[in-house]
This record gives sequence, C-alpha cells and structure tokens, in this order.
Amino acid sequence: MTVRGACNTHHHHEHSDREPAVVPARRRAFVFDMDGVMYRGGQLIDGAAEAVATVRNLGLPLFFVTNNSRETPVELAAKLQQMGVDAGPEEIISAVVATVEYLKRLDPIPGSVLVLGGIGLAANIEAAGFQLASFDDDEPVDVVVAGCDFGLTYDRLSRATRGLVLHDAAFIAVNQDSLLPMANGPMPGAGAIVGALKAATGIEPLVVGKPSPHLFSLAAERSGVPPEELVILGDLLDADIAGANAIGATGVLVLTGSTTRKAAEAATGELRPNLVIDNLYQLPFDLLLAP
Ligand SMILES: [Mg+2]
Repeated sequence: MTVRGACNTHHHHEHSDREPAVVPARRRAFVFDMDGVMYRGGQLIDGAAEAVATVRNLGLPLFFVTNNSRETPVELAAKLQQMGVDAGPEEIISAVVATVEYLKRLDPIPGSVLVLGGIGLAANIEAAGFQLASFDDDEPVDVVVAGCDFGLTYDRLSRATRGLVLHDAAFIAVNQDSLLPMANGPMPGAGAIVGALKAATGIEPLVVGKPSPHLFSLAAERSGVPPEELVILGDLLDADIAGANAIGATGVLVLTGSTTRKAAEAATGELRPNLVIDNLYQLPFDLLLAP
C-alpha cells in the first residue's frame, strides 16, 4: 500500500503552535529513526522537524531510535536540537540505551561485564551499576558486550574470546552493522568485530540493535502503548520495517534515506511496509490516528 501525498510541495518551516489538525481518536506513539529520516550527512531532512512538532502538538509520545553506539543520548539530542528539532535525551533510544536496559533485566544480574567497544559504551554500562571486567587479566566474566571498538587489538579480541569460550559468558552484540559510513569512506562497524568473535567461538550473540526489535519494544514500553500502537518511521526495509513487523507495529518507509520507491514497493513478507511516503510532510496523521 502506498500513500501518495498531496502535500509534498508544502514546505513551511515554522514550528507550528497551531491547533493540531487532527484530534487523535487512538493513543499512538511515534518512533523516528534518525539517520535517513531526521537527518542525512549532518543535514536536517525537510519535513522532519515539522512532523516532530505535530506529534508534540497532538500530545503523543515520541522517541528517536538509532543503532549508533558512539554518541550518548545527550549528544544525540543536542545534535537534533542544533538542527531545530525539539528532542530530549530521555527520548533517545540508542543501541547503547537498549543494551544497558537488556543487561539490567538479566537474571541473575551479571557480576562482571567485558565491553569490547568504545569508551562511551563502557561508561554507560558502568554508570548503570555494572562492574567492568579488565582486559589486563583473565578473571571470569559473566557477559561479553561487543560493539564498535576503535581500540581493537588482537589481545582485546583474545580476552573476549576466552570470556566466551572459557567462562561461558553471555554474548551480547550492540548491533551487527557491517559498515560505518564516514565522510572519507566506510569503516568496519560493530558487525565486523562481532563477526570475528562469532568466527572464533561459533557462538551466536544476542543482537540488541536493529533489525532486532529491542529498540522498538523499549519505545513501546516507555511510551506506555502496546507495540501495535507504535508508528515506526524508518528508511531501511531490513532494519526498520522488519523490526516494526516483528512486533506488530505500523511500519512507515520514508524515502528520504537509502531505499528507493521501487525497492519499497517490491518488498514482501516481513520487509513489507504498511505505508511508503516520499517525506515526512506526507505522514498521514488522519489515517494513522483514526480509530
Ligand atoms: Mg536510518
């Protein structure tokens, strides 16, 4: 199904204080993917700030999700604010936020966590009350968390491998993104490091980031709506739409990122979006909020 909008040339940029155009007949929550939906290459995408303002005017909960594990929620919210998007750190659900939440729910609570990842990831896990395992000894570890480790060495990889093989640690991947797009070309992402551990140990990790639905489930939980009442706005079929379909949410594919209309309309099964829109000006609030 495709909604062809009547308003894709409607480029007003003021933050709207108007009365909402629609009185929501059902309580829904909105989840905005960040890269490719809110911004692209550091530039705000037309219609993104307006869509966020409309959801706020409607009084509905909203969240911003990202597999990014390099920036903190405070930094990501600041990035949105600098672009003119009304966003708070508590509304950011990054793969780091969801990883910490996942660790908190493990039973029994892990005593020591080995973090093969960036300083930010380790700091967030430690701030949540977990003891970080050292890379300088071979003490037993309960969990190995693997993300994008810019300080990766053979020794660090070996320590994580021994944690998984000798100590039977739980294996958690922040995400499995293969590449990180950078201005000067791609760099290996968390998936490359997770892949090395998988190859060494034969153990499959629990993956927190998209396409796993953990980020979206957490958004549903924090907004207090059932997953079926989430509207997930994403630019990737295999990450955003598959995740939305996995939890029964409404998946809206926005063509401002990495997916073409042809690919979106050809998608089937778990990759099939409920709606395809050219940009967020076309978000059909009347349709989405009808009973
Ligand atoms: Mg995206």
